[in-house]
Parts: sequence; structure tokens; C-alpha cells
Amino acid sequence: MQDVMAAAGQKVVLITGCSTGIGLKIAVLLAKDEKQRYHVIATMRDLKKKDKLVEAAGDAYDKTLSLLPLDVCSDESVKQCLNSVKGRHIDVLINNAGIGLVGPVESISMEDMKKVFETNFFGVIRMIKEVMPDMKRRRSGHIIVMSSAMGLQGVIFNDVYAASKFAMEGFCESLAVQLLKFNITLSMIEPGPVHTEFEMKMIEDVSQKEYPGADPDTIHYFKNVYLPSSVDVFQTLGQSPDDIAKCTKKVIEASSPRFRNLTNPLYTPIVALKMADETGGLSVRAFYHMLFNLGGLMHISMTALKYLTCGCLRSRTISPN
Ligand code: NDP
Repeated sequence: MQDVMAAAGQKVVLITGCSTGIGLKIAVLLAKDEKQRYHVIATMRDLKKKDKLVEAAGDAYDKTLSLLPLDVCSDESVKQCLNSVKGRHIDVLINNAGIGLVGPVESISMEDMKKVFETNFFGVIRMIKEVMPDMKRRRSGHIIVMSSAMGLQGVIFNDVYAASKFAMEGFCESLAVQLLKFNITLSMIEPGPVHTEFEMKMIEDVSQKEYPGADPDTIHYFKNVYLPSSVDVFQTLGQSPDDIAKCTKKVIEASSPRFRNLTNPLYTPIVALKMADETGGLSVRAFYHMLFNLGGLMHISMTALKYLTCGCLRSRTISPN
């Protein structure tokens, strides 16, 4: 394989999980930058899925966008990919690849739970370990991690997914301090719901599963209380993957990027609520009330929240506009 080379002055940006969704949109947005400031190395674990990206990249393909195979769960794949980048030089690493998992914990196999951590947590660490030494030597670089609002606030029946993003937040919060000493920036992007295949995969997955091991009450709460409200939340509050790509570009281009970047202003009060009560009781009770008491009114309360979100909350998020 030929070494991937950027033109002089271009920043080399490596992105994981570009076959679809947010990763694909970030790759295309940066590759089509008007000033051609970036050379994007868009990676995916299965190159057979490249058509959507190649089509969206258009003329940028093979110019400001190169394609490489990379599975974040494989040491060998990550090493091979980095070895085919000239000088292993990466200016911006965007850890985007991730998988979801919903359902009653009793019915999820340990193997499936480990897969989520292997991808969402160890996958990111595997990438950082490979890219960071060169950034440290150069005293320069930006590492971006696609976390989630669920990395800051747990959500019922998303226990393991939220845990994988919480783990990432803790890891990054610790690492960011050390990296600052080496002039390397670390930023978390924390979207709320985003309309991508992620959402589709969840709905498809749920419709095919029987949930063995979970009692009838739990299955009822999952299927008849949580799922309709989750669909509602996606419909009312969902952002597009283009929005998240624009937010990510803003973070890359900021003169002093923030460490945490919520993309959806509606999650600011949720996070503030959590921070306001260190015992955790307030947010646990608020979520319980929202789901089990306001369930039927969820749509109305979400819509009201959307229109009531004031400018001060918006200014505390990263906006796509
Ligand atoms: P998609 O399911 O559309 O895309 C996920 C991408 O990750 C795909 O390209 C997928 O590849 C890739 N991927 C999965 N496993 C691996 C692996 N082992 N190695 C390399 N690539 C892999 O989801 P989104 O675009 O929505 O998700 C992107 C990120 O955003 C994730 O980290 C997710 O947790 C986060 N996020 C998403 C939200 C949402 O509501 N959609 C909300 C908040 C955060 P393949 O096609 O081969 O499966």
C-alpha cells in the first residue's frame, strides 16, 4: 500500500467509522473545505461499504480524502493503518466509531456488553496509544472523541452504552491534563439524539429480540414505556449528522477548543441538574418522574422544553450554525 501523503500546509485528519452517519459527514465536510486546509484519512472496517462515502466526497476523493481500512477493535489493523500514513503524522484524530446497545441488562449477554466496551472504550484508547507518541514528540495535535450526552447522564435501558461513554469521559478528563503539558488538545463532542443508522439499528434490533431472562414487568417497561418515549425524544430533539459534523469542524477550528462540547442545548439543563446535586438523587428522581409519571405527556414536555431553551443555555453548547 502506498503511503498517504498530504500537501504542504494541510492538516492530516484521521477519522474512524466513516462508512456511514456522523463519521461520513465529518470526513466529507473537512475534505471539501473551501481553503483545502485538510487532508482527510477516512477509515472504515469494511472497505466494501465505501460507495456512500466515495459518492458523497465527489471530486475530493483521492485528492483531499484518502480511504484506509481500520477496525478499532484490532491492534493489527490499527497499526497497519498508521504505518501506511507518511511519517505516522496525524494532526487531528477523530475517534468516531461506536456501537449502541439497549435493553434490559438481564437479557444482554456478557459477550455483547464486552463488544460495546471493546469498540466504544478500548477502541478509542487503542487509537490514542498509537497516535499520541508522535503528537507528544511534535508538541502538537488535537484528539477528538465522539462521546454522547449519555457520557454525562445515564439513561434507563442504555446502561451499558452509557457506561462505555462515561468510561471514556473519565479516561479523557484524566488524560487531558497530561496532554496540556505537551500542547495537545483533547475535546469531547457530546451529541444528544442524532438521526443516523444508529437509531435504525436500535429499532431493528429491538424488534427482533425476545429478551430472555427479563421478567414481564421489565419487558413491559422497556417496550411500552421506554421505547415510545425514546422514539419521541429522537423525533422532537434529534439533530442531523450534518449538524454534528459542523459542530466538530468548529471545535477543530476554535482558537481555544473547549474540553466538553454538548451539541444540543436541551441537554444543558439536564447536565446542570446533575451537577447541582452531588448526591445524584435529584436527577434519578427527575428522570423517573419524566418517564413513569409524565410518559404520556412526554411529547408536549419535550416540545415545550425545546422552545423554552434560552440563549444562555445555547451559548453553553457548540452550535452547528
Ligand atoms: P452509525 O451506526 O451510523 O455509524 C457508526 C460507525 O462506526 C459506522 O461506520 C460503523 O461501521 C463504525 N464502527 C463500528 N464498529 C467499528 C469498529 N470496530 N471499527 C471501525 N469502525 C466501526 O452511528 P453514528 O454515526 O450515529 O455514531 C457515530 C458516533 O456517534 C458513535 O460513537 C456514537 O456512539 C456517537 N453518538 C451517536 C448518537 C446518535 O444518536 N446517533 C448520539 C450520541 C453519540 P460499520 O458500517 O462497519 O458498522
